[in-house]
Amino acid sequence: PAPAGDAPCAGGVPFSFELYPPRNARAAAALPATIDRLAAAHPEFISVTYGANGSSRTSSLDVLRYILANTSVSPMAHLTCVGSSHAEANRLIREFLDAGVRSFLAVRGDPPADAAPGDSGLGDLRSAGELVQLIHRVQAERVPYEELLVPGIPTAREVRTEREHVRIAVAAFPNGHPTSRSASQDIDTLLAKQAAGANLAITQLFFHPEDYLAFAQRAKDAGVEFPILPGIMPVTSPARLRRMLELSGEDLPSELAIQLEIEPTEEGQREIGIAWASRVVAQLVAGGAPGIHLYTFNQHEAVLAVLERTGLLHSASAT
Ligand code: FAD
Repeated sequence: PAPAGDAPCAGGVPFSFELYPPRNARAAAALPATIDRLAAAHPEFISVTYGANGSSRTSSLDVLRYILANTSVSPMAHLTCVGSSHAEANRLIREFLDAGVRSFLAVRGDPPADAAPGDSGLGDLRSAGELVQLIHRVQAERVPYEELLVPGIPTAREVRTEREHVRIAVAAFPNGHPTSRSASQDIDTLLAKQAAGANLAITQLFFHPEDYLAFAQRAKDAGVEFPILPGIMPVTSPARLRRMLELSGEDLPSELAIQLEIEPTEEGQREIGIAWASRVVAQLVAGGAPGIHLYTFNQHEAVLAVLERTGLLHSASAT
């Protein structure tokens, strides 16, 4: 069923956006204007995905550099580790740090479909937790002392606290990772990521707020202390719904699919997607979600409309 609960919801909840690197020259030319519009909404951060096996290294870096140079928003770099040696992963992390990135989303990435367990091509780092540890280690070794200076002479404790503020997010799966054997394995994996030094999680797409709320509660009860941001994508066309299902492996919410399929106009489909996402966001905020992470599909209109309708945009702009 369609999620109940009406927008707008109480303000004050932070939000963030996800972008992917452009795949052709036309998309690259359009992206700066999209970033400018998203940045003007004052998100907590804008994350930029990273192609599996490094396929988007340069284009991801270009997008991150644009955000750093042209906005006051903190960029978050997704990094993947599957297929990388320790040395390669080390070089990659240094390259992103050198570009000025201080916030990461460490994901394992998907191995090639034909890779067998133990395949040497899978690389040295076998899980996101190992990548989290490596980012911490490289960062601690590399950040020059001057960058850690606060006004006046910092105490050792202040320097340490500054380092602890490095943001390393990880992925969470409210409806289970496709290879997970049980719901408790997904919570155990999250606890392992926390032990490795992660301090934030962002979820895979999902359709029903109760799936996220139950998962976040189970994680908290099990000892996960960091915030878990729900990942929401306004599904504004049947094509985007198909893409969302492909990415998330979730079951099709038949009501939303039918509504989108029978609506003849693009404008009508867009309205269905924005209204659906706004109701989900309102329910998540009412249920205590610590923030909202919006998958933008590299377009600003739909996600800003969702924030506007739920009252989150105005409260953010006012602060
Ligand atoms: P891990 O947590 O390391 O492992 C995934 C699952 O495997 C675990 O949940 C667990 O069930 C199982 N597992 C792990 N270790 C073991 C073990 N030792 N024994 C048994 N089972 C184990 N992919 C990209 O290529 N680029 C991106 O930019 C990107 N961004 C993403 C952003 C978000 C918010 C999310 C949710 C996913 C993203 N992904 C991205 C997809 C991600 O790479 C895949 O979902 C991948 O399959 C799992 O990554 P992970 O970091 O969760 O891996």
